[in-house]
Amino acid sequence: MVANEKPVKQDEFTSPDFYCIDDLLSEEHRMVRSSIRDFVKREISPNIEDWAERNHFPSEIVRKFGEIGAFGPTIPETYGGGGMDYISYGLIMQEIERGDSGMRSTASVQGSLVMYPIYEFGSEEQKKKYLPKLASGEMLGCFGLTEADFGSNPSGMITNISDQGDHYLLNGSKMWISNSPEADIAIVWAKDESGRIKGLIVERGMEGFTAPTIHGKWSLRASCTGELVFDNVKIPKENILPEKDGLGAPMMCLDSARYGIAWGAIGAAMDCYDSARRYALERIQFDKPIASFQLIQKKLAEMLTEITKGQLLNWKLGVMMNEGKATTPQISMAKRNNVEFALKIAREARQIHGGMGITGEYPIMRHMMNLESVLTYEGTHDIHLLILGQEITGIQAFK
Ligand SMILES: Cc1cc2nc3c(=O)[nH]c(=O)nc-3n(C[C@H](O)[C@H](O)[C@H](O)COP(=O)(O)OP(=O)(O)OC[C@H]3O[C@@H](n4cnc5c(N)ncnc54)[C@H](O)[C@@H]3O)c2cc1C
Repeated sequence: MVANEKPVKQDEFTSPDFYCIDDLLSEEHRMVRSSIRDFVKREISPNIEDWAERNHFPSEIVRKFGEIGAFGPTIPETYGGGGMDYISYGLIMQEIERGDSGMRSTASVQGSLVMYPIYEFGSEEQKKKYLPKLASGEMLGCFGLTEADFGSNPSGMITNISDQGDHYLLNGSKMWISNSPEADIAIVWAKDESGRIKGLIVERGMEGFTAPTIHGKWSLRASCTGELVFDNVKIPKENILPEKDGLGAPMMCLDSARYGIAWGAIGAAMDCYDSARRYALERIQFDKPIASFQLIQKKLAEMLTEITKGQLLNWKLGVMMNEGKATTPQISMAKRNNVEFALKIAREARQIHGGMGITGEYPIMRHMMNLESVLTYEGTHDIHLLILGQEITGIQAFK
């Protein structure tokens, strides 16, 4: 070791499985989880505090994610995907977010918000052209739905396309777009002249298209976030996603991504819990490990309870996803619940770590700051509550 170089801290994570949920997993599920966990320990954990501190997106991770099958695990192998089920997909998201929510954002945007719409709504030519390169990490994609004045209400979007005969002209802008500054393609949602929302594939380098970085984030600092700006961008007609239009199309993508978030949040929660458990056993105050105090035990017991509930919610939701039966409100419930409790667990874990909890020596503060974004993106915490409220009462309370 060179003088003054910080020793690399070992990632000693072990996952809690209080209700033996492993018994519900297949051999393949366990293998997938273990390979992603090893990858996170090897490639993400030793570097993540540095990346986050420097607000650095490690672009080399894109190829590495491609190599381990983190992009589009449920997309058929014929298009370069993993051909796996939704439980495997969930476990991959859980393990990556155990490492960092920003890293999981990169992977879930690519899989659920870029590959999924091309696979579900794209033409055969589009699938062949883009999916294998996105799966391998040769290409990075982003998803542009949110606009500066239309976040929770994307139906109000003003980004638009006008038909010019042999092509469309795209105008407008998108805000808060994960991966955008580094992306090779963007799936953009825009209104046509009749006000119908269409999905289109915009490629880096098209004239009039820029993707400036959004600076100053205190959350998801190892993930890059930016805008998408379109000034009379000429879009060939073959770049329109032909098989589905209307707001339902991007909402289907969000269902898939929110499902991944429900698993990912439990990953972050498990990391906070595991770190707090180990710290509590090692940290001596009043001549005893702090783990011997009832108030610390209460915190740990409640954390484990919520993690176990979240794991069970995820597993059952995964089964329903595999059967094609999971509904939007069911996905909303899992995303909302698991992110809320992950954030609460991060805050409790921060207290258990005392002053050390605010430093990069432990993952807690980074998870906590990350989870603030996760609580808001892909439908805010309150919007998911309103989705559930509508399901329960039949009354829409958005407007
Ligand atoms: C780091 C990050 C990455 C993101 N990545 C992407 C991406 O890749 N692609 C993309 O398209 N978007 C992305 N987003 C955007 C994200 O989805 C939006 O931020 C989110 O939908 C909320 O929109 P908003 O920020 O405009 O908040 P607003 O919609 O303005 O909401 C502000 C507050 O008002 C509340 N509110 C709004 N309407 C109602 C209502 N009817 N009833 C009660 N309360 C209401 C909300 O719950 C919230 O608390 C990202 C955001 C962040 C922070």
